[in-house]
Amino acid sequence: MARKMWINGEFVTGSAEGAIEVLNPYTEGVLDTVPAGTPADVERAVEAAQTAYGEWRWIPAVERADLLHEIARRLRQEGESLARQLTLEGGKPLVENLDEVGWTAACFDYYAEIGRHSRGRVIPSIESSQLSLVLKEPFGVVGCIVPWNYPLLLMAWKVAPALAAGNTVVLKPSSVTSLTTLMLAGVFDHLPPGTVNIITGSGEQVGDALVAHPGVPVIAFTGSTAVGQRIVQLAGPMMKKLHLELGGKDAFLVAEDADLDVAVPGVAWAALLNNGQVCTSTERIYVHNSVYNEFTSLIAEYVEGLVLGDPLDPATDLGPMARAPYRAKVERQVGDAVQRGARVLTGGRRPPDLQTGYFYEPTVLIEVKRDMAVMCEETFGPVLPIAHFDTFDEAIALANDSVYGLGANLYTHNARYVKRFYEEVRAGTLWINDPLTDNDAGPFGGFGMSGLGRELGEEGLDEFQQTKHVHWDFNMESKEWWYPYEQYNQER
Ligand code: NAP
Repeated sequence: MARKMWINGEFVTGSAEGAIEVLNPYTEGVLDTVPAGTPADVERAVEAAQTAYGEWRWIPAVERADLLHEIARRLRQEGESLARQLTLEGGKPLVENLDEVGWTAACFDYYAEIGRHSRGRVIPSIESSQLSLVLKEPFGVVGCIVPWNYPLLLMAWKVAPALAAGNTVVLKPSSVTSLTTLMLAGVFDHLPPGTVNIITGSGEQVGDALVAHPGVPVIAFTGSTAVGQRIVQLAGPMMKKLHLELGGKDAFLVAEDADLDVAVPGVAWAALLNNGQVCTSTERIYVHNSVYNEFTSLIAEYVEGLVLGDPLDPATDLGPMARAPYRAKVERQVGDAVQRGARVLTGGRRPPDLQTGYFYEPTVLIEVKRDMAVMCEETFGPVLPIAHFDTFDEAIALANDSVYGLGANLYTHNARYVKRFYEEVRAGTLWINDPLTDNDAGPFGGFGMSGLGRELGEEGLDEFQQTKHVHWDFNMESKEWWYPYEQYNQER
């Protein structure tokens, strides 16, 4: 059964003649198809969102808050079926997808509350007969473009604050995971029609048309740095507000005092969650020389014990990677590293007992060099390249040895190391002794090539509000500093 797009509160086929196949990465079979949308469908969705904006922006914040809480309630109610569909099309283990749905709902609850409070203010005026206001206003229609690795969560990080601020939305999911996103029609259908619209289609066709549309003043995008650069090229000359969450190459430092019984499973989880297909996956591991040998042999043994298999099976730790080309990229990087002298402690191949599905064994690499692709390009796969350091100065320099700056992790009890780490490492999120823990109130985003702007927290709402300064004089009087200057100069 072909799915449909959701525009102006209705399922529509759109103008598309073609369809996009959505695969199951575990069986490699086709799950379903979605319409390959066109710029004409973008036009229709933007028109619907523009019309809805006329109503949505004036709904009192307290009422909007109730409507956002209702989205959260419906997400929780549909949690099992959404998580199951996410598992089928993305390959993450079911338990991780249940967690994703939970955090997605929590994000709508969070912005329902944050959005209740006006963030404008009264500022000192120039004269006593005046009132000066700072207003926070919505922009209008926000284009939200989302990747496949966390399709619901990363949707919520954009759509929840955009709606809370009074904007309306045109949402374009990844072609890899459009099915779960289309299920959200039932989560949003209590909002005025057109407040949220979901259009499917390729990034080149639908994504480009949305980014370039003159009626869409804000683009909120999560995805690769390459596509982020394309968006800057298209939207920059139009002076659009851009919010870009891009790639990463996060470092994990393990100091000499780290408890290895925690650090070993902690680093493994930070690198292998969702098969390493997390923007903040640990992709470079630096361990103090004094514990390096013990750490590498323990983590190789630990990783070997992880269970690969059907992502719907509760016993599975790692499902398949999301698609074959992503696995091929990992194979290229590992192959290049090995050819240039790296050593595989475990993994480095497709599992021989899983012939179907885009599986790749979690791979521990040592003797890696800083200029190998696996140490400087985003891998987005289940690979743990491990290097070592002697001094903490060296550790900080290694952590900063990247064009990216999304997140970084440290295991230590040493407060001096902790302070240096959070002051000197160039990254948007610094985790100490608790890798990758989310916090809706904590702003998330990147330094350098990892992007522009912040999601989550109050900063995440700011991205969807524009600021106005209002200067109001209660009296309508001429001013002495107007023309003619001659008179003014005489009186001075
Ligand atoms: P991607 O290829 O950049 O695609 C992301 C989204 O952009 C998809 O919806 C895609 O649509 C769309 N797109 C592609 N070309 C476009 C164009 N020319 N104009 C507008 N939109 C376009 O990324 P991905 O493979 O889905 O996701 C993995 C990447 O996302 C990684 O680099 C990862 O680090 C990054 N990521 C970053 C964060 C963060 O918060 N910083 C979080 C998660 C993921 P199609 O699917 O139809 O091509």
